[in-house]
Amino acid sequence: MYNRERIYLSSPHMSGYEQQYINDAFEKNWIAPLGENVDQFEAEVMKYVGSQGALALSSGTAAIHLALLLLGVERDDIVFCSSLTFIASANPILYQGATPVLIDSEPESWNMSPIALEKAFKEYSAKGKLPKAVVVVNLYGQSADYDEIKKLCDYYEVPIVEDAAESLGATYKGAKSGTIGKFGVFSFNGNKIITTSGGGMLVSNDIQALEKARFYATQARDKAIHYQHSQMGFNYRLSNVLAGIGRGQLRVLDERKTKKREIFSLYQEHLANIEGIEFMPEAPYGETTRWLTTMIMDPQKIKVSPMDMVGYLNKFNIESRPVWKPLHLQPLFQDIKYYTHNEDISAGLFQNGLCLPSDTKMDMETQMYVIEKIKEKIIIL
Ligand SMILES: *Cc1c(COP(=O)(O)O)cnc(C)c1O
Repeated sequence: MYNRERIYLSSPHMSGYEQQYINDAFEKNWIAPLGENVDQFEAEVMKYVGSQGALALSSGTAAIHLALLLLGVERDDIVFCSSLTFIASANPILYQGATPVLIDSEPESWNMSPIALEKAFKEYSAKGKLPKAVVVVNLYGQSADYDEIKKLCDYYEVPIVEDAAESLGATYKGAKSGTIGKFGVFSFNGNKIITTSGGGMLVSNDIQALEKARFYATQARDKAIHYQHSQMGFNYRLSNVLAGIGRGQLRVLDERKTKKREIFSLYQEHLANIEGIEFMPEAPYGETTRWLTTMIMDPQKIKVSPMDMVGYLNKFNIESRPVWKPLHLQPLFQDIKYYTHNEDISAGLFQNGLCLPSDTKMDMETQMYVIEKIKEKIIIL
């Protein structure tokens, strides 16, 4: 029992279809630049999510960066951004020399609070300095509540960048996650629901904007036979070999989602009856992928902190993590403005939240072992 292999939060899970696409790239010597796997991967993601266009990139971060660039975010601009997220949602704001303003979560979905967003809009509108964009994050596989958020953004005429890096495969009122904002962003980093080892995708219904993004992602090379450049660009395209991995992965995305949801259900079945444990709620407007199962341990009722639990599980080679440390609590952003829901919801989720192993390669017996170890450490007050 104690020599088990490490049990991961979410690690790469190959389908077996990847190799044929990779071999194809090798046979045709389409190792680089770009090639059929990239074109097809874009077409397949477009078809899966139902967007008009898609651009395969080297990372989700690059996709966010290009979205902000296209929305005209420049030095000294303001961009609103969810606070409860991974730093990659906000770093591209800094790349552009702009300043993030951070927005709290609401308890129903853990995603951007329309109440906090409205407060921020009112204040910045009064100052005559509206943001150039709002980066809305879909956390741990679940979509934010876009009807409310969009109403506000439409009123102030500010476009949404939908950071769907963690929510590929989820839905919002029947639409696929990532298709609701002006731009949608996916990540194929190793820990995401599907992976290309590293990669990302920018989707939009604005084909012209995506063509511009393609241009900037390819060193902003002008249409000339010689190398000519009139603007600054980036080297952000996805390799044709890695796109092959993505094509093989995309074929099992729905299977992975089903498995993720089953993992959640088993945790819920065995832990939700413990007084003081609550899971991230599934909002009624859509279906979450449960990319990571996350739970809250109420410190009034349970005497174990997330940090203690992480340390304990680690002794048994089980990986777990606290919920994302909100950006407004990061040293990098200590002087940045932050708008709360009412009390500080995201700080509370970080204080008491834990992400559990949600690896789709984990079988039921292994998961029961994880559950047993969690129960061992919990002390009811
Ligand atoms: C993973 C992730 C990203 C960034 O994706 P990369 O492909 O690693 O650059 C952005 N936002 C969120 C919320 C993420 O979880």
